[in-house]
Amino acid sequence: MDFQKLVDVYEQLEKISSGNTMREILSEFFKTVPKEDLALISYLTLGQIASEYESVVLGMAEKSVLKAIAKTGAVSEQKVKEIMQKTGDVGLTAAQVLQKKPQTLVPLGKLTIHELFEKLHKIAETTGSGSQDQKANILLSLLQKTSPEGAKYICRIVLGTLRMGVGDMTVIDSLSIAYTGEKKNKELLERAYNICPDVGVIAETLAAKGLKGLEKIDVHVGRPIKMMLAQRVKEWEEIQKKMPGKIACEGKYDGERIQAHRDKKGNISLFSRRLDSVTDQFPDLVQYLEKQVSGKEYVIEGEVVAIDENGKLQPFQVLMQRRRKHDVAEYVKKIPVQIKLFDLLYLDGKSYIDEAYEKRTAMLKKMVKKSKHVVLADQIITDDLGEINTFFKAMLKDGDEGIMVKNLQGEYQAGTRGWNWIKWKKEYVGELSDTFDLVVIGGLYGKGRRSGTYGALLCAAYNKKKDQFESVCKLGTGMTDEMLEELPKRLDKYKVEKKPARVVVKKEMEPDVWFEPKIVVEVLAAEITKSPFHALGLALRFPRFIKYREDKKAEQATTTKEIEDMVK
Ligand code: ATP
Repeated sequence: MDFQKLVDVYEQLEKISSGNTMREILSEFFKTVPKEDLALISYLTLGQIASEYESVVLGMAEKSVLKAIAKTGAVSEQKVKEIMQKTGDVGLTAAQVLQKKPQTLVPLGKLTIHELFEKLHKIAETTGSGSQDQKANILLSLLQKTSPEGAKYICRIVLGTLRMGVGDMTVIDSLSIAYTGEKKNKELLERAYNICPDVGVIAETLAAKGLKGLEKIDVHVGRPIKMMLAQRVKEWEEIQKKMPGKIACEGKYDGERIQAHRDKKGNISLFSRRLDSVTDQFPDLVQYLEKQVSGKEYVIEGEVVAIDENGKLQPFQVLMQRRRKHDVAEYVKKIPVQIKLFDLLYLDGKSYIDEAYEKRTAMLKKMVKKSKHVVLADQIITDDLGEINTFFKAMLKDGDEGIMVKNLQGEYQAGTRGWNWIKWKKEYVGELSDTFDLVVIGGLYGKGRRSGTYGALLCAAYNKKKDQFESVCKLGTGMTDEMLEELPKRLDKYKVEKKPARVVVKKEMEPDVWFEPKIVVEVLAAEITKSPFHALGLALRFPRFIKYREDKKAEQATTTKEIEDMVK
């Protein structure tokens, strides 16, 4: 397929902000895409060249991109830099320079999606000394073959700033409409996507094998599975209603969720809750798992926590220091970790996700040889309230957040906040307040002591059904002066000119600055009230900043449904 066709779609998408219109445009477009290009186009509409978990990095410096633009347009690098300073966007800079390209420099043939994709991968693969120049040359060969608009998008893709406002679910919905004629099959697609969070594979399977093929999508070692989440309740009685009889209780540890995959060759890869690869961050953990967990091929889950030399649990903030690319070896020594394993999703050719919790954890127990660094999550199975209460208190004393209650018969509900797991946290006992994970969508300039930074942040919950972010509060308290000062540095890279697509805000709440929905913050709120000013129709009162949730993507924020359910 000719890349220009995708460029025309990009041009349309850029002008609209309604999720529904976006889906209409994309689904009509997908119908015209040849099967062999469908996966590539699915990635490209997201501004990616592979699935996110594959962490393919194009690694181009802005300087090299500007150099390639200058060469293509036959103008000086200085001139390109000046335009860049004015526009502030590499895409607009490319379009402007190449618009004025002399007639002699006509495009050298048509750029196909296939060639674009191949060359973008080549850019990613080029590393080492002199690689920036080589990358610039490959980019040059692409820019020479496309229109000024095409150049605009290619330059944004290589720098990771495409920002079309399209999310994975928008692509999945559009594929569903294009290939199955209706949205009704969305559930099936969603299920497949939860087990295989790779839009390219989903698109390819759908095109080649239809819905039947998607039904068969299964666990694939090395490809992360979207993690199961827990529901919350206000009163303990609700848990008993949802799970009558015996239940399992485990500690709810305040660490980092890890999904570990071991392939047949013995390679272990670790994925975070965001499904990013974190294998390089935890070389120690890889070694412990190699020694302490049996099984040729497996997928298991647990919570990683920091411990001291005596094995005592350390606070979450200590573990956060292990989130680094440099000095890893030094920090392995400085901050030892332990994994508390609690689930088994796959073992030696058999998927366990549809098996009952009881069976999964019984098998997991057999696989684990306990040590200081690899243990099973504390667990009791009982229907005795007294026993549960004693366990809850013991967990809090250990520094845990509370307990996880799990349905003994429940399957693993990938990517779902299902009723098979319910969290019972210390905040629920006695106090009414609870925490919410919200997405920062806007900023209001600060005054007085806060001038030069933001005085408040407009925050949103995620409407999963509509795949959009709806404002629920303005957050202004809970940050130290230092945190306030560093806000622009943290947020401004996500600044966008106009309200991003998928963001819903009432006129009264429009902020001074819009942000792409990327940053997630944990917020403590005292109550939920009705509000005509917020998109959801509900507002969180007295919101207070607790911490950044770097482990969460925007789509993993608290959902509007959860907030509505809490009101009910
Ligand atoms: P919270 O904000 O309350 O920490 P959350 O929104 O991050 O919760 P939940 O679905 O409420 O996520 O809780 C599940 C998380 O709790 C998991 O992602 C995991 O990191 C953590 N966790 C700790 N202990 C356990 C356990 N025993 N079983 C499952 N998850 C656990």
